[in-house]
Amino acid sequence: MQHAASAAELAAVVDKIRHAGLTEHVSCGTERTIVGAVGDERRLTPDLFERMPGVERAIHVVKPYRIVSRESHPDNTVVKVRGIPIGGETIQVIAGPCSVETQAQMHASAAAVSAAGCRLMRGGAFKPRTSPYAFQGLGVTGLAYLQAAARPLQLPIVTELMDVRMLDTFLEYDVDVIQIGARNMQNFDLLKEVGRVNKPVILKRGLSATLSEWLMAAEYIAAGGNHNIIFCERGIRTFETAYRNVLDVTAIPVLKRETHLPVLVDPSHAGGKAWLVPALSLAAIAAGADGLLVETHPTPSEAWCDADQALTPEELLALMASVRAVAEAIGRRV
Ligand code: PEP
Ligand code: MN
Repeated sequence: MQHAASAAELAAVVDKIRHAGLTEHVSCGTERTIVGAVGDERRLTPDLFERMPGVERAIHVVKPYRIVSRESHPDNTVVKVRGIPIGGETIQVIAGPCSVETQAQMHASAAAVSAAGCRLMRGGAFKPRTSPYAFQGLGVTGLAYLQAAARPLQLPIVTELMDVRMLDTFLEYDVDVIQIGARNMQNFDLLKEVGRVNKPVILKRGLSATLSEWLMAAEYIAAGGNHNIIFCERGIRTFETAYRNVLDVTAIPVLKRETHLPVLVDPSHAGGKAWLVPALSLAAIAAGADGLLVETHPTPSEAWCDADQALTPEELLALMASVRAVAEAIGRRV
């Protein structure tokens, strides 16, 4: 309350708290009176109080996100994908091409991913492209190629869902991890729908999303009952134009502190150049990321999408060796 707040103004605040089904805790100091709302304070918003006479400031003392917050669940959550743990001591590197192109390209990619020691495979069948005239992905055929390449090598698959109308098809094709891309991070209807299925979800950070917006987006998924959520930092938009995006390394420890859920880093979309991928990957692991989502292609110069940032199979193999060294230095393994 303001210094000069009257007893009637204080009573009005107390009334409002009781009306919402909570109880008040009034603390009278020599300078200020502080009123606490005891109960589920998420039902109240600060603006309900800030316009009231005599009120100086209203703040939430609990986090607006509930299920995803570390407050609600102090231990790390390990999300299991066909038995493969994400978020535990082991660092997971998910690799594969930006987009599914041909069956032959997918077989070659899967062989490279597996040979490098990665345990999961990515590949986009539905691509969010800036231009409507650019390659949009093979669609359902892409899901089939991805599965046909990954299954024989026991690689669970990760692929992006852009349209809620494709969700049943994703389930039919037994997609192991549903990726929600940066551009859809706040597509709340899509988040609600993936919240109703029993499949792990990788939630990428929006191009200019704050950590709090990102956590609230995850809360949408969790609120529907699906708690198998994996965050993925993929670089944010800043004033810098020398590289595709800026990898927000600081977000990794902050997110790990705020949430119990696993945090991955996509160094490919962050840097936008293959030569930047090793440095960004090592920084990510050193900063506490639980794994990486990396683009690779059998022949990057021929990739239909994001050719500049794709690692060759040899580069992927070399990356795994250096990631392993950093992981071991911080008491983790690959
Ligand atoms: C992708 O991973 O293929 C992709 C499109 O990434 P983002 O949503 O981060 O741009
Ligand atoms: Mn890409």
